[in-house]
Amino acid sequence: MLQTPPALPGMPEDEIDTPALLLDLDAFERNLDTMAALLAPTGARLRAHAKTHKSATIARLQAERAGAVGQCVQKVGEAEALIWGGIGDVIVTNEVVGREKLARLFGLTRLARVSVCVDDPVQIALLEGAAEATGGRIEALVEIDVGMERCGIAPGPPAVALAERIAGSRHLVFGGLQAYHGRAQHLRRAEERQAAIAEAAEATRRTVEQLRQRGLVCRVVGGAGTGTFALEAASGIWNEIQAGSFCFMDADYARNLEADGSPVSTFRHALFVLATVISTPRPGLAVLDVGHKGVAVDCGLPLVWQMPDVRYVGASDEHGKLVWEGGDRRLAIGQKLRLIPGHCDPTVDRYDWYVGVRGGRVESVFPVDARGAMR
Ligand code: PLP
Ligand code: MN
Repeated sequence: MLQTPPALPGMPEDEIDTPALLLDLDAFERNLDTMAALLAPTGARLRAHAKTHKSATIARLQAERAGAVGQCVQKVGEAEALIWGGIGDVIVTNEVVGREKLARLFGLTRLARVSVCVDDPVQIALLEGAAEATGGRIEALVEIDVGMERCGIAPGPPAVALAERIAGSRHLVFGGLQAYHGRAQHLRRAEERQAAIAEAAEATRRTVEQLRQRGLVCRVVGGAGTGTFALEAASGIWNEIQAGSFCFMDADYARNLEADGSPVSTFRHALFVLATVISTPRPGLAVLDVGHKGVAVDCGLPLVWQMPDVRYVGASDEHGKLVWEGGDRRLAIGQKLRLIPGHCDPTVDRYDWYVGVRGGRVESVFPVDARGAMR
């Protein structure tokens, strides 16, 4: 059941009901401007990943403000939410398996430009079957494993053979390569990320060249995330950058990449969970109304915004414990605090509404359209 919005436009921030998903609009817009400025000299296009934001509104703002050419999604349900919300160009950066999902996917091709990934002839056969059943066509990208060891066929000849199968099929169009190195995003040191992406770049370059020799042109060579996108964009090999978290920035990205001089450190925290202090049982301890049902803890506990000495040390379902040194009673019952989520993507998925704030007031409220869109 959709929850009622926790805020109304015009309200001061400290009147917002909690837990609430806050978007600091100045920081968000600045992140979009930063990404646009970093990509402009490289010629690489931005196709931001919507698994982070799950919002047609944010997708539209990314197009208008940062020139995003479209969006990436992981799930058909996310593609539906975006396309029904008016987004016209979506790549499913994933393999889609299942008759119902494929029927929905082909339905979307009648409403927007839609592409999907494959890494095995079995998926090509499934797509062909769905195309016949629905009378549609779809663009397919070959996903290659450039070091992530998740989905993806081996680069080089195996990928070329799969691309030739796509090109030779009746209802599919070969669209290019999906080459995302996820593990590289969260390597601690800049040199490690550089080495990982250099290897991925060589494998991708070789595959693009071998495809070209067979007359197969890649409309899209997609990949990259917030941790490494500057490297992929500068390589001249990838032409679409799929970063997602850059527009929000979470504590994990801030920790992993802190002050190492990579462009990522220029992004600001724009996404917060607003919490209320519900109890101060003894000096040095306060309890919030946000536990791990309200903020994802898979990449570490949240940080307390602008209170570095107050530490969020324990998350139960609906409680969060804050502690600090000194034994004073610095937090009061009813006080509201911003938390910086450890991991932005799953945190967003816990909320029905974004509350856009600027200058201490609510400016806009809009839905997390693809909340729970796992299918
Ligand atoms: N592209 C794909 C296929 C992904 O799976 C991800 C994240 O997991 C990303 C891009 C980049 O996301 P982020 O910038 O949030 O790290
Ligand atoms: Mn993530």
